[in-house]
Amino acid sequence: AIMPTLLSGIANGARQGILFKNGAQLEKIGKVRAIAFDKTGTLTTGQLQVSQVIATSEYSQVNVLKAAATLESSSEHPIGKAIVQAASDLDWVRAIEVQAIPGQGIIGIANDQKVLVGNAAFVQQYIAQLPEELSGLAQSLEHEGKTVVWVAKMSKGDEYEVMGAIAIADTNRIDAVATITRLRKLGIEEIVMITGDNQRTADTVAQSLGINQVYAELLPEDKLDVIRSLQKQYQTVAMVGDGINDAPALAQASVGIAMGVAGSDVALETADIVLMADRLEKIAAAIELGRRSQSIVK
Ligand code: ADP
Ligand code: MG
Repeated sequence: AIMPTLLSGIANGARQGILFKNGAQLEKIGKVRAIAFDKTGTLTTGQLQVSQVIATSEYSQVNVLKAAATLESSSEHPIGKAIVQAASDLDWVRAIEVQAIPGQGIIGIANDQKVLVGNAAFVQQYIAQLPEELSGLAQSLEHEGKTVVWVAKMSKGDEYEVMGAIAIADTNRIDAVATITRLRKLGIEEIVMITGDNQRTADTVAQSLGINQVYAELLPEDKLDVIRSLQKQYQTVAMVGDGINDAPALAQASVGIAMGVAGSDVALETADIVLMADRLEKIAAAIELGRRSQSIVK
């Protein structure tokens, strides 16, 4: 049977906007020694905005944006939403046979031509080399913490050709830095960022938040692997995330924590704890509650 102290701990959490799915999780979070955070939508707001569009000499910025929007109008990814928003005043038609590849990009047929949008690794499955005229610029945008996606289409001769790239900017959550600082003060031994985004972008965002362990360019299963290896070292490990791509890691973690508002349905279902109103700082409060409930139970 559940101890009264656990129940009051759960009630106390609920009053602060921390939803525990059960009492065991309240106790477990008090024992957490390492925490992994997803980047987009978790440490950042995930309300992405297109900040730059760049095109090769053969195309225009408008061409690039339109081509991307034809595909992304079928996407639920925040990158897709940002691109469609930026292209909302332009004329384009939704692509057909659209296929989204989680953690990589999207591909389909627009105006009888194959088009694709995605990260460098994805586009390089179709094109050996990214155009040199753009890659330097793309890298410097990534250094600024922006996410760059490449846009390509199939030209004559059944070969893909890069049209350009789109840089997308995100904003750190206002309580992210304070949360990391507070977690360190609570004695959490390791704080890491795990993301599907590219290494340069991830490093810049992590640095701005005071996180020095970064695992980037991860697929959903890779995120799970990071959790598993942290568990070998620290036993009790929490994972904080919002996306479908975080679900395997949330399930593997000793304590899975989902963002209540930004969180996808799958993330909310998989997590043990839900942060109402997406308040990251409540993680520290949850740990304190968990520690207190343990000392009372003992
Ligand atoms: P995160 O871990 O930051 O939430 P994801 O795993 O969802 O990121 O995606 C990783 C990367 O894959 C993105 O940064 C982007 O480059 C690419 N990507 C994923 N989905 C799309 C899409 N619909 N359009 C363009 N690029 C995408
Ligand atoms: Mg995310």
